[in-house]
Amino acid sequence: IEDPASRVLSQVFGHVSFRGPQQTVIEHVIAGFDALVLMPTGGGKSLCYQVPALVLDGVAVVVSPLIALMHQQVEHLLRLGVPAASLDSSQSGQDNFQTEQALLRGDVKILYVSPERLSGQRLPGLLDRVQLSLFAIDEAHCVSQWGHDFRPEYMTLSMLGRRWPDVPRLALTASATEATAQEIIARLGLPEARVFRTSFDRPNLDYRIVAKDDVRRQLVRFIQEINHTGHDPASGIVYCASRARTEQIASWLRDSGLTALAYHAGLDNADRQTRQRQFISQPGCVMVATIAFGMGIDKPDVRFVAHVDVPRSMEGYFQETGRAGRDGQAAVAWMCWGLDDVARASRPSDQQQSQQRLLVQQQAYEEMLAFCASSTCRRQTLLAHFGEAIAPCGHCDNCLAGSPDMDVTIAAQKLLSA
Ligand code: ADP
Ligand code: MG
Ligand code: ZN
Repeated sequence: IEDPASRVLSQVFGHVSFRGPQQTVIEHVIAGFDALVLMPTGGGKSLCYQVPALVLDGVAVVVSPLIALMHQQVEHLLRLGVPAASLDSSQSGQDNFQTEQALLRGDVKILYVSPERLSGQRLPGLLDRVQLSLFAIDEAHCVSQWGHDFRPEYMTLSMLGRRWPDVPRLALTASATEATAQEIIARLGLPEARVFRTSFDRPNLDYRIVAKDDVRRQLVRFIQEINHTGHDPASGIVYCASRARTEQIASWLRDSGLTALAYHAGLDNADRQTRQRQFISQPGCVMVATIAFGMGIDKPDVRFVAHVDVPRSMEGYFQETGRAGRDGQAAVAWMCWGLDDVARASRPSDQQQSQQRLLVQQQAYEEMLAFCASSTCRRQTLLAHFGEAIAPCGHCDNCLAGSPDMDVTIAAQKLLSA
């Protein structure tokens, strides 16, 4: 006989089997225990709380850092026939009021909320009046002060365990060094949580890092090469460090006959949504974006992620490249780095930061530069950062080249004289 979780998986979500540790996590949460789930982007973290939410009585409350992300999940669940809703500041008072009424009637199974709502007065008061099945804290690394997505409101979430001690809590993240995991446990007050960790290896991703000389020519050639190997023009994301650069590079790509859009936080909401939709639906579309683009984008057939500027940390690099090849088919993570990236090391991204935070950011960036300059297997270095030891992969640029090690200064000198 099928267990309730498997039944929900097939009947509601239409999937045949659980992936990785999903089933163990789900059983653990259904049994009423806390958990911390560390799984790479695209690993299937959502089901870890959505399935228990549908098996258990009461409403599951999901904390999510981005309104767009919440809406996307709610829409998806509603399409599957799951009574889901969200409470957030983007909706009218009337809409939020209706959601509250539905919640009190017991008509909501999964409620997405921003962390701000939980630290206010109103929502906790309402939650006291309903039966709760679980709390899920998605993107839990947002609680990490030294991480790249720090959200101060996440710090207040430790109150969940004090106010509702009998409700199981599940923290989930794709950004998980051992230090981050420990920080999540400490700051969310989850000392009893069982930690579920899957390998962060993405075997279908090929890592390639090249020295910058003429970015425009290099990028276009790279994309053409990808298109040449496949049947269709490939969808991909090009990450840049600034808004201005996204516009510039998108227009270069269009001049080369590619379909390209720019995306950054400076665009208005409607524009961002239109472009996001175009990227998802139009084959062969290249999104040239700042890191404002990506979290929550569930497009399985992204064939490449290109970085024309070095990201600020290994976590950032891993997250961003992780958006390629979610369908399990071959995909390439390509990065082009040069002197301008080395120069950026001495410039803080935000003057308002504390000294300690600046130092951490600088170290993270230097680690990224060392990664670029290194001739060790890319996958091995990347996974070592997440505490995993593997043998050289045999198909990243370094494994294929087998060149001797360079340090950052030598690499910079080489670039200068080139
Ligand atoms: P994450 O939050 O870890 O980045 P998601 O929960 O968004 O990942 O899941 C990524 C994709 O994988 C989604 O399209 C989801 O439908 C799919 N998926 C997750 N679990 C399964 C499964 N057991 N079987 C098939 N598809 C799955
Ligand atoms: Mg997710
Ligand atoms: Zn390798």
